[in-house]
Amino acid sequence: MEKVILIRFGEIFLKGKNKRFFENLLERNIKNALSIYDCVIEKSHNRFYVAGYDNEIEDNIIQTLQKVFGIHSLSPAIKMHTDIDKIADLICDSLPVAQKFRVTVKRADKTINLTSTEIASQIGGDILVRKPDMVVDLHEPQLNINVDIRENKTTYIFFKNIKCFEGMPVGSSGKGLLLLSGGIDSPVAGFRMAKRGMQINGIHFHSYPFTSIQAKEKVIELGKIISGYCGHFPLFVVPFTKIQQAIHQYCREDFMITVMRMIMVEIAEKIAIEQKCGALITGESLGQVASQTLESLTVTNSRAKNLPILRPLIDMDKTEIIKISKEIDTFETSILPYEDCCTVFLPKNPIIKPKLSVAEAEYNKIVGLKELIDDAINNVEIVKITNKRG
Ligand code: ATP
Ligand code: MG
Repeated sequence: MEKVILIRFGEIFLKGKNKRFFENLLERNIKNALSIYDCVIEKSHNRFYVAGYDNEIEDNIIQTLQKVFGIHSLSPAIKMHTDIDKIADLICDSLPVAQKFRVTVKRADKTINLTSTEIASQIGGDILVRKPDMVVDLHEPQLNINVDIRENKTTYIFFKNIKCFEGMPVGSSGKGLLLLSGGIDSPVAGFRMAKRGMQINGIHFHSYPFTSIQAKEKVIELGKIISGYCGHFPLFVVPFTKIQQAIHQYCREDFMITVMRMIMVEIAEKIAIEQKCGALITGESLGQVASQTLESLTVTNSRAKNLPILRPLIDMDKTEIIKISKEIDTFETSILPYEDCCTVFLPKNPIIKPKLSVAEAEYNKIVGLKELIDDAINNVEIVKITNKRG
């Protein structure tokens, strides 16, 4: 016998003619995610198995796999050569504490003459003989003992089914550039698009020395957490100070944030195209703040001439977003109290319903803007963030 982890993948992407493509990507992502561990990945009959690992690292492997999109669920399992008479012995040797149990058998091996139900009752009976304290309860068991008898004379026994995020394998839906601030929303937006199969790069606008080095470190830390879900995560850090000063100098105060957003999107689109990204991603949610009204979104959209802006949080309440950020472990980092560049030159009364024509006029007032934008792009710092898994 041997301990393995059984990986089931979601079925949505298994139906079409691209099945092989999705499966190969998922296999690649699983291998990349587990490359830090000493283990092997095997594939058979629409499943993957992790084998050959030390017991102590089983939990780490499971935690890492839970972040790989496209996986439906996981089960730590015992793998044995099929022998119906020995199954109960093995089960009794590794039973978690429980009184009421049921045995569920799946039998793909049709060379065995017994039906699944007959095998289940034989195993159940054997367990009762060895463990007289236990009772069978088919409807509300404390422990579900699953026995999966496969075609190749191999049987898997497992007690747990750990649900994962599902989604699509990262890399199956192109690449997006995430506008990553230090806040709660944008990391969640990146997570959601990665879950739909996007490979994610990040871009952060940094206004040093108006914003501190720690503010940048915080964004890098968020990038590390995101990379646990999407693999490598190059972060483009754009020096934004001179542009912010110019906005401050030339634009109407109530339009400062609107113009800042326009320029952010313009720069992000340029870098996205350079990096062969097919979309921009933001953490905006309708009506959350003045810069996220329909009118404001219309203005920012106007600066993305060639790429769509994906806003996966557009219909979500802050409480829903916070719930996800806690689940994906970005919340505690997001709430660290460092300023974002948006808060540095914050106007008292930002315009809530900016007119596109007025916003464009304010944008056009900035003397030397093209050079400032080129300069910012030429001085981008690329931080290659490595995976933080486990
Ligand atoms: P978040 O919690 O993501 O910071 P927010 O509620 O603070 O969002 P805004 O500050 O209005 O909202 O930002 C809206 C979106 O613009 C963010 O979700 C992010 O995608 C992008 N953004 C804001 N500031 C920056 C920045 N300094 N660098 C990169 N992107 C940014
Ligand atoms: Mg913000």
